[in-house]
Formats: sequence, C-alpha cells, structure tokens
Amino acid sequence: MSEPGDLVAPSDPRDLVVVGAGPAGLAAAATALDGGLRVVLVDAGAAPGGQFWRHPPPHAQGTIPTADLHHGLRTYRALRATLSAHERTGRLTLLLNHHVWTTAREEDGFTVHAVDRGRAPEERAVVLRAPALLVATGAYDRQLPFPGWDLPGVLTVGGLQSLLKGGGVVAGRRVVLGGTGPFLLPVAAALAARGAEVVAVCEAAAPSAWLRHPVPLLRNPAKWAEAARYAGTLARHRVPVRTRTAIVGAEGEEEKAGRVAVVRTASLDADGCPLPGTERRIEADTVGVGWGFVPQLDLLLPLGCELADAGDGTMAAAVDDGQRTTVPGLYTAGETCGVGGAALAVSEGRVAAVSVLTDLPAPGRPNARRTAAERRAVARHRSFARAMAQAHPLPPAWPTWLTDDTPVCRCEEVTAGAVRSARADAAASDHRQVKQLTRAGMGWCQGRMCGPAVHCLVSARDQPYAPAERLIATPVTLGALADSGESTSDHT
Ligand SMILES: Cc1cc2nc3c(=O)[nH]c(=O)nc-3n(C[C@H](O)[C@H](O)[C@H](O)COP(=O)(O)OP(=O)(O)OC[C@H]3O[C@@H](n4cnc5c(N)ncnc54)[C@H](O)[C@@H]3O)c2cc1C
Repeated sequence: MSEPGDLVAPSDPRDLVVVGAGPAGLAAAATALDGGLRVVLVDAGAAPGGQFWRHPPPHAQGTIPTADLHHGLRTYRALRATLSAHERTGRLTLLLNHHVWTTAREEDGFTVHAVDRGRAPEERAVVLRAPALLVATGAYDRQLPFPGWDLPGVLTVGGLQSLLKGGGVVAGRRVVLGGTGPFLLPVAAALAARGAEVVAVCEAAAPSAWLRHPVPLLRNPAKWAEAARYAGTLARHRVPVRTRTAIVGAEGEEEKAGRVAVVRTASLDADGCPLPGTERRIEADTVGVGWGFVPQLDLLLPLGCELADAGDGTMAAAVDDGQRTTVPGLYTAGETCGVGGAALAVSEGRVAAVSVLTDLPAPGRPNARRTAAERRAVARHRSFARAMAQAHPLPPAWPTWLTDDTPVCRCEEVTAGAVRSARADAAASDHRQVKQLTRAGMGWCQGRMCGPAVHCLVSARDQPYAPAERLIATPVTLGALADSGESTSDHT
C-alpha cells in the first residue's frame, strides 16, 4: 500500500508529457527536447522501446542477448543517446514502470494520472501536468476466436514476439502460426532462428492481392528488402508458408493438462470459407495467431478525441497532417493513428513534436526542410499501410469457423452462440449492446481480446471497430486512487 508521502510529481514545470516510449514516443520526445522543450516521458514498460524495440528489463539486458531479433537498432540507439543527454541536463524526466490510468483536460493543459509499479506489488500514485500531451500508446493484437483458441499453448503472435524480445523465451518447440499480415513473417523467422520448429505459417490472404497496389510497393523498397530477408530465413529453416489458409481449430491433450496438441488448418475460398476436403491436422505444442492490430485508444477517448476509419476494420485517432487530434493541445503519433509499422511511427512522432514546438511558445524553431521530409515519409509509409490493410483483410466468412459453444469472451465465458442469440433475439448490432446483454467484454481485459470479434459477429460488414470508452485504462488499487486525489489537490 502506498502512503500519501510517496506521491511523486516533478516540481519543476514541464511543457509536454509524452505517454508511450515506443518508436513514436521516443522520436517525439527526442525532437521536442532538441527543440528546447522540457519533457516527461512515461511508459508502463521496464525499458524504453515499445513493442518494436522491446528489450529485456535493465537488470537482464547483459545476460539475455536479443540484438539479432531487432531491426533499426541504429535509430533506436541514436534516440536513446539523445534522451540520455537531455536526461543529464534535467530537461527530460523518464518514468519507466509507470502505467497511466487516466488523463483529464484542465483549463491550462492536461493532468496525467499514473501508477508507479517499479516496486511491485506496491503502487504509488503519480500526477503530472503540462500544457501539451502527446499520446503514443501503440496498438494491441487483434484476435479472432476459433474452436480451441482458449487452450493453453495458444498465444497471439505479438505475445510470442514479446516473449522472445523481452526475455529471450522461445515459447514452444513445434509451432504453427496463422492469421494475416506481414507480421507473421518476422515472428516465424525469429522463432525458427532461435531453434523452434515452425511447422507452418498459415496466411489467410493471397499474395497476389499486393499486385493491385504497385505504387506503394515501388515507393517503399525497404519493406521488400525486409520481407526478402525473412523469406530467406524461412527458406533456410524450411518453414512452409501456406497462403489462403487459416487455422480453423485447435485440440488439446488431456495428459498435458489440456495443452494444445493438434492444429486444424484449411484452405479458404475467396470469402474465407474453409474449402471442403482441404482440412489438415498438424501436431504442435504451440500456436501463434495474429489478425493485425487494434489501436490503443484508452487515453484518447475520454478526452473527447474524434476517431477516423483506419481502413483495416478499426477506428483510429483522427489527426491533421501535424498529428494534432481534434482536442486542442492533444497530439498523437504511431499506431494510435492506425497501424503502419515502426518507421511510420518514428516519422509521426517527429511530426507531432514539431507541431508541439510550433503551437507552444518554444525556444527553438523546427527545421522546415527536415519537417517537410518527415511529412513526406509519413505519407509514403501511410500509403503502404493502406495497401497492407487492403491486401490482408479479415476473411469475411470467419464466423463460420465458430461453433455455437466456441468461447468468444474468455473473461466472462460468453460463447459465439450467446453473441449470435443477442443479435438474432435482441437485435444487438454493436459490441456495447452485446456487452449489456451477455457480459461479453465486461471482464478483466475490458473487451480488448473479444471486442473486435464481437463487433464483427454482430455489426454490418463495412463498419469499423471502435473500442468502448473506459475511464480507467488499467486496474489500479484503491490506495493509489486515494493517493491520486490527494496528489491532485497538493499540486494544483
Ligand atoms: C505485442 C506486439 C508485438 C509487436 N512486435 C513487433 C515486432 O517485433 N516487429 C514489428 O515490426 N512490429 C511489431 N509490432 C507492431 C508494433 O506495434 C509497431 O509497429 C511499433 O512498435 C509501433 O510503435 P508505437 O510507438 O506506435 O507503439 P508501441 O511500440 O506499441 O509503443 C507504445 C508504448 O506505449 C506504452 N503504453 C501503452 N499504454 C500505456 C499507458 N496507459 N501508460 C503508460 N505506457 C503505456 C507501451 O508500454 C509501449 O511501450 C508489435 C505489436 C504488438 C502489439
């Protein structure tokens, strides 16, 4: 339990709070600091880097080698060096292990409420204030349920990658990966390079879909070089990539506490229906599934930030060409604005920081030529992201893979049958109504896992998913909540 005396709030004034130290947040903080601003950079993780540059916690970094799993480390190291230099001069306060649970708009800026979990299980309340707030909280894995997806040994592909990068852990011996999108390739390559037998990579889309987007392809040759590297690794390790194929079921083994033992895959028709006679049974002890990502909007929605269609079945934060949201003083960059990879996140972070420098009475002036180049980079990467979304859609008929007893919301144990009944009997047409009728999305994860799937099961096909607004982004102890109230009155 924390004591009110533990409350922390940087006493000297700050110009900008950046939440999220992934590629977008690191780049934004570095640019803002170079421009003369005083910045607080907050991240829930134990080390900066976000998902793309996830590293083991500082005490383990010397003992768990992960450099071979990374790309773009030169950029990461340059950003870290910039931040370290500013930390030494006192212009940067870097708060790791700090989870922001809510934010509020004040007359003169924003209040950011976080809990310091650096000395878990203790939690300390931390309250920060600044005239400008930049949210760079990234995205999380999008999941589509299938019979057996709740068995031990079935993970998200992002989860498999996090275990590798964050702890050097290879989560299985015989692994099958499935879903859609280029992210399947680095995960398969990393697992194979670290000794796992990757038995199959099941990509639901057809690669020929990319041929409909020649311009973004030609404008982003680096992406193809990267894909070719992964293809080389997969070929060396004899990993088969099966296109127009999906994981449609998994079965557990009683002797192994129900852990997954068999994966069922099938070829798909153009709509995503399994083709009769194509089902295969593959022995595996681990399954990784990923259907793209969902922007993490928890901190933006309660502030009133408007959303826009990201083009991949999700809604993302609406921003102008300077990464300004529709709320004055609130900026966002990276995958909160739509999923597009780390290079896009870095460019958006820089552009967002330039806008903060322009909008605040900042001591430094942004370099106009560099800003224009960064905006061009954002446009180029965004066009690639749009092409990626179109080439890797969710198979429209995936709900046909589900039996009525397939769990959809694992926290509250709500089945596909119950969700279908909510639609058929009570005319539920979005995940909020289904939540009221069935409790789907009401559990610990607050719909992060099941929300997109419930949405697809009941909503019109072309309607993108927007998560429900939550005032509290992470569970916090009552003690931290109480401390937070005292801290607010102490520092206003
Ligand atoms: C699990 C996972 C693994 C991924 N691995 C890869 C990979 O290996 N290669 C690849 O190309 N792409 C990967 N991606 C895609 C990836 O998200 C990016 O392309 C890139 O990291 C996006 O950068 P970003 O800065 O927008 O967000 P992120 O890198 O996601 O950074 C967001 C940061 O915000 C922090 N954060 C979020 N909410 C809060 C909060 N409330 N309070 C405090 N801090 C918060 C997080 O801890 C995180 O450090 C992964 C995605 C996921 C979800």
